[in-house]
Amino acid sequence: MSRTVRTTCPYCAVQCNFDLHLEDNLAVKLTPTRECPVAGGTVCKKGLSALSDLRHPDRLTTPLLRVDGALQPVSWDRALQYVQEALGPLVRHTPERLGVFGSGSLTNEKTYLLGKLARIGFGTPNIDYNGRYCMSSAATALNRSFGLDRGLGFPLSDIARSDLIVLVGANIAETLPPVLQYLKAARDRGALIVSIDPRATPGLAGLHVAPRPGTDHLIAGGLLHLMRKWGRVQPSAPVTGIEAVLAGVADLTPQRVARECDIPLGDFMRLAERYAAAYTPLILTGRGPEQQQHGTDTVSSFINLAFLCGHFGKAGGGYGTLTGQGNGQGGREHGQKNDQLPGYRRLDHPQHRREMAAFWGVPDTSLPGVGLSAQELLLACGTDIDALVVIGSNPAVSAPGAAVVRERLRALRHLIVIDVLPSETAQLATLVLPGSMWAEEEGTTTNLEGRVQRRRRAMTPPGRAREDWQILCALAEAVGRGEHFRYPTFRALQDEFFAATRGGRADYSGLSAERLDERTFQWPVPTDGHPGTPYPYQPPFAAPGARPRLYAPAMVAPPPVPLALTTGRVSNQYQSGTQSRRNPALKAQPDVQLHPDTARARGIVHGQPVQLRGPDGHTTLPANVTAKIRPGVAFVAFHWPQSANELTSATTLDPHSRMPAFKLGPVEARPATAS
Ligand code: SF4
Repeated sequence: MSRTVRTTCPYCAVQCNFDLHLEDNLAVKLTPTRECPVAGGTVCKKGLSALSDLRHPDRLTTPLLRVDGALQPVSWDRALQYVQEALGPLVRHTPERLGVFGSGSLTNEKTYLLGKLARIGFGTPNIDYNGRYCMSSAATALNRSFGLDRGLGFPLSDIARSDLIVLVGANIAETLPPVLQYLKAARDRGALIVSIDPRATPGLAGLHVAPRPGTDHLIAGGLLHLMRKWGRVQPSAPVTGIEAVLAGVADLTPQRVARECDIPLGDFMRLAERYAAAYTPLILTGRGPEQQQHGTDTVSSFINLAFLCGHFGKAGGGYGTLTGQGNGQGGREHGQKNDQLPGYRRLDHPQHRREMAAFWGVPDTSLPGVGLSAQELLLACGTDIDALVVIGSNPAVSAPGAAVVRERLRALRHLIVIDVLPSETAQLATLVLPGSMWAEEEGTTTNLEGRVQRRRRAMTPPGRAREDWQILCALAEAVGRGEHFRYPTFRALQDEFFAATRGGRADYSGLSAERLDERTFQWPVPTDGHPGTPYPYQPPFAAPGARPRLYAPAMVAPPPVPLALTTGRVSNQYQSGTQSRRNPALKAQPDVQLHPDTARARGIVHGQPVQLRGPDGHTTLPANVTAKIRPGVAFVAFHWPQSANELTSATTLDPHSRMPAFKLGPVEARPATAS
């Protein structure tokens, strides 16, 4: 029987819609949805090839238990018996020694359920997720200024209304290709597109500024210095902290910015003059400025600029962060963060704790406190953490200092991995539980503009694989805490999730599957019948009764290093590559990009192997010698084992967001043949 199911692409935060065509239980074709509210029928190659992952020969179709050193197929009964024996005593006696590691690729409902499982099922504070590696510095910067973290405070299509678009470390053409249509529309209307990036990335930039890595905040501060001098400071609303911010940029003259950032003075002045003249200038940050040791402060410097010049909250203007992971926005809202309860409530907020405890029917004193952040959790494995449950994430490749992290994972007594393919992390597990892929589950996801969309089940998981939500409930039963996890249907879980967000900043309580069948909604949606909130950042720009607060970053340049590592994505791959590396349509290989001057100084030849050494590991990759990167910078993508995260630091974290510093670490490079 032929049928078509409309759903969303799982492979980045744009969440393009497509129609999945099936013959019986077999998916045969994917076509872009012309009425897609996000991308208007545009999809990228990665999304279109998602079909081949669904029935990949490597799909996990039965539980696997490590016996005599090797993973062996077992029944679900045996697998859950293992869970009972492994996790049951920890839950009863030392729950804090049990960790949970989630994913920004999970649906909102699974995010909610995972947080609930950790806190009232297992009773552990130690849950965090791989989104800590993604946009947590931008989220922290937005939250601390406005008490609100929605990556884009406007519909994506508003980008077309901007008259100046400043991309800071954001490679849209390769990471979010359909978004390019809005930049193109803006450019065709006369907008200038500026890319601030140590690499020249593909796209539409009319001005490329390649600063010394780690100096993005000086550009923002230098622009604010000039805007003040030119009388352009007109805050978007009354705000706390303005004096300190302006004092911090008082001596950031254009000459100093050009010198310390190592950029042409003329380029900086052109940017400043365009910013001063623009009515709707828009600053969009990507992972470049965010994944640094001072990423939160760097993002704050751009927020300060946009806010103090009166552009915050304008349609097509202000500031936004381009969330990357499949459900990177929704995944950071509903309780899988170490400090968070559903609806973007805070775990350390007494009223928020009372609200969620009452909702779940447990004493608020029984809710654990704030736990370890993602990287701290992984580094505690084998010492303070005895058992770790990982779902939909592959930290053996995606965590910084991956060699160190793999050692920690091997040191665990129990590593339980729920996944769909045998990732590098699953290969280290003591128990692997086969879960569901995007086309095999119901739920909602929230894209980079806060748009909540329905994901629809089109087919059942293969073999003995189960839907993830059912697996999470089975874990609760196995440890004797099933009481709060008995949902007769998925719909019961979904309705509970929507209700749980009522009263939170990310309030979805006015949503239902029926409403989402009719259209999409940008949160908050606090009541049935509420139309959604395309523009949540509006005067007074803070929670009721509060004032926005600006933070003054230290305007100092980091000490120079001979060769600085920067990491990122390529268009044909997704995250740690568990799925995309298996997809024959998405061929790509890792290499190290180096400027010809950098290569020449080290005797490195294009195409030849380069030995690279970072603070916590090493690897060897072919040289890609190109003038598209600044001298003194090495770029390595992170989708492969033995690539970028062999070179990143396992322990350098942003003090505010606890995001690891994937960028700017020192790296050594030399020809692999040298002794
Ligand atoms: Fe999927 Fe993102 Fe490509 Fe759209 S842009 S098709 S959501 S990977």
